[in-house]
Order: sequence, then structure tokens, then C-alpha cells
Amino acid sequence: MNTITQRYNDVMARIGNAAAKSGRSATDITLVAVSKTFAADDIEPVLELGHRVFGENRVQESMSKWPALKQAYAGTGLHLIGPLQTNKTREAVELFDVIETLDREKLARTLAKEIQSAGKSLELFIQVNTGNEPQKAGIQANEADEFLNLCTGTYDLTVTGMMCIPPFDEDPTPHFTLLADIAKRNGLAKLSMGMSGDFETAIELGATHVRVGSAIFGNRG
Ligand SMILES: *Cc1c(COP(=O)(O)O)cnc(C)c1O
Repeated sequence: MNTITQRYNDVMARIGNAAAKSGRSATDITLVAVSKTFAADDIEPVLELGHRVFGENRVQESMSKWPALKQAYAGTGLHLIGPLQTNKTREAVELFDVIETLDREKLARTLAKEIQSAGKSLELFIQVNTGNEPQKAGIQANEADEFLNLCTGTYDLTVTGMMCIPPFDEDPTPHFTLLADIAKRNGLAKLSMGMSGDFETAIELGATHVRVGSAIFGNRG
């Protein structure tokens, strides 16, 4: 077994333990393996194990490696977890299966148009800026309900979940709790929260999707 395979198995075991600890089933939690900056050679061992859900943060980089990998490994679902510029929306709709970073009306409008012209069904998560960080993407927490209604009502988008990236240097617990509250009161089932450093905490607070990169693939250069 190579190192990536070992790390992947270790992360899966930790997900199972965290789920069990909070009385949940490991099958209720989707590992989004974040392969940004890693080449196909590093990603293929994980695909070979049967894993089929991956996350990338850049459209351009994803276009260079994922069309071939998706072709070779049927059933692969790709999540966009980085900010989406409206001028990349068409490519993103073509390649991705879930876009986790819907956070503004202009993007909602553009996505609605591109999804319709592609004739493809695409799942969307709304990104919430739970820490109100000015430099970070995401809708403000107090605007999330209204924005969700706009996305589903005015633009007829399929929004199934919420996503957050807590401030780097803070305890993530209040951020995960806030996101879970917003999703719950809006009847959204999916919660994308938790990364390599905190995915167990996120699972205990209700995450259905954890986005784990370096704990699987190693440190990014
Ligand atoms: C890179 C990234 C991750 C994965 O981070 P790790 O700490 O390597 O697990 C998760 N979510 C987002 C939005 C990212 O950009």
C-alpha cells in the first residue's frame, strides 16, 4: 500500500469512529477528498480504492485533470469548493456535479442560465461566511435565509445544503453550530463542514460532508 492509500484508510476509520461517537452511521457522511494541487498520479490510488467523491477549488486546474479521470472512473462526483467567478460558470457547470460555493445573486442568476442551457442537474450548496470575515467568500449568516429563498424561488435552483469555512485561527465549534442551525431551520439536509484539522468535531456537530485534503494527500507544496 502506498502512503496515500494508508492515509485514506485512516481518514475513513476516523470518520467511522466520529460517527459512532455521536450515534450516527458512517454511511451518512460523505468524504469529499480534496485533491487540489495534486496530479492524477496521486488521485488515482484513491479512485482505485473505489472512492468517487472529490473536491477541487479551481475550475481551470480541474479542467486540466478531471475530464480524463471522470471518463476512466465512472460515477465520479466532483465538488467545487472554491470561489466561482461568473465568467467560469459555464465550464464549472459542465465539469462539476456539486457546487458548494453559491454565495451571491449574480452567481445564482448565471448558474440558473448555464444549468438550463446545459440541460444538466446540478446540486448546489450555499456558502455561509460564518465568521463575517471581509476577505472571505460566502453570504453573511444573517442573510442566508433570504438568499436561499431567492435562489430557490426566483432562480429555481436546486439547493440541498450549506457549507462553511470557519476562521483559520478560531475554535470551529460555534461556526459549525451556526451553520447547522441555519440549515435545519431551512429544511436543508446537507452540511459541508470540517477539514483535515477538524472533521471529527464537524461530524459530531452534524456534518454530512467533510472536505479533507492534506490528511489524505499530504501537505500541499
Ligand atoms: C483546501 C480546502 C479544504 C481541505 O483542506 P485540508 O486542510 O487540506 O483538509 C477544504 N475546504 C476548502 C474550501 C478548501 O479550499
